[in-house]
Amino acid sequence: MLDRIRAGKNLPVPDYWRGTVDDVDEVLDQVTRGRVISLRTSAGGRLLRAVVYGSQAPLRRTANLNSAFGASLPRAYVDKTDRRPSLMLVGGAHGSEMEGIVGLVNLIHVMESGYDLLGRSWKSLLDLAEGVRLTILPCLNPDGRARVGLNSYVGESAETYRYWMQGTRRDGTLYSWPAVKEFHPIRDVGFLGGYFNDDHINPMHDDFFVNPCAEVRSLMELADREAPDLIALLHSAADSPFHFCSIAHLPPVHQEAIYSLSQRVKERMTEKGLPFAPFPDPRQQQKVYLEQFNLPRALHHHCGAATLTIESCAGIATDKEHLKLDWQQILDGHFILFEELLSSVKAEFHKYAQPFLSD
Ligand SMILES: [Zn+2]
Repeated sequence: MLDRIRAGKNLPVPDYWRGTVDDVDEVLDQVTRGRVISLRTSAGGRLLRAVVYGSQAPLRRTANLNSAFGASLPRAYVDKTDRRPSLMLVGGAHGSEMEGIVGLVNLIHVMESGYDLLGRSWKSLLDLAEGVRLTILPCLNPDGRARVGLNSYVGESAETYRYWMQGTRRDGTLYSWPAVKEFHPIRDVGFLGGYFNDDHINPMHDDFFVNPCAEVRSLMELADREAPDLIALLHSAADSPFHFCSIAHLPPVHQEAIYSLSQRVKERMTEKGLPFAPFPDPRQQQKVYLEQFNLPRALHHHCGAATLTIESCAGIATDKEHLKLDWQQILDGHFILFEELLSSVKAEFHKYAQPFLSD
């Protein structure tokens, strides 16, 4: 039974669907227009790397973020007055969620050549990227990605998705979301799901303040060094439509900019026939605090960026016809996100960067 769940249908993926650890290494090895930055190594000894595009004015930092705010002078952390709008995209925090990794591998291809892996030209995206500092970390958790035997979940059952995501207990029973979060690090493991690094840590819910894992530490250091305006973490969620997760803990000015972004993304996805769940106006959202504290929230408090988790549909088998996405639809959804994130960070720079701009 478990063998059948593990094997799934394992449909052959199209050529442009490249989201393995080797695919990430290959695209980064071929970078010539961007600059590749080596970070730390994962718990399992895999190298973490990011790539940056576009120049940026140097930092003149005299304090960390909270000391700068303590002085009522956020610009002591970063003065953004002469800096370019800066966007950071992170894939594979849950290594098993390869949809965002595939999107970012294709995006790096576009940034390098102007074309995605389908051979489509993305002039509009390149125009939007002009004048932006773009940082791409395609796979934050390569240990989790390497553990997953499938290349996509298109057409797979919910059980197969759960197996590769959250894994099993020693007795072979499947964990589920969100109940799996009861355990951190997770120890009762038969198969360790792709959520986790090789030390059984789920980076989204790490011990951020005292003992972060190498993956989280790498991301925190990179975010501190870049001081981006907007950071998006790309996840996937079974047969859910594309959607934005809660942005509790962000200041109202960031919430406003992200709400506008969600409206634009909804419009574009709807035009393209892609499902996008409405993102409630943050002013109407129930205020939640510790329930919504996770990696993107910790990042916000570390570097001052607006931080956002975006979930993609994973295309699993479902009786809801409009949520059966194929590979190209999933990729196209990601390109809409990339264009709108670039557009937002430029158009709303004054909002994202507000506390760090001189009057
Ligand atoms: Zn996830």
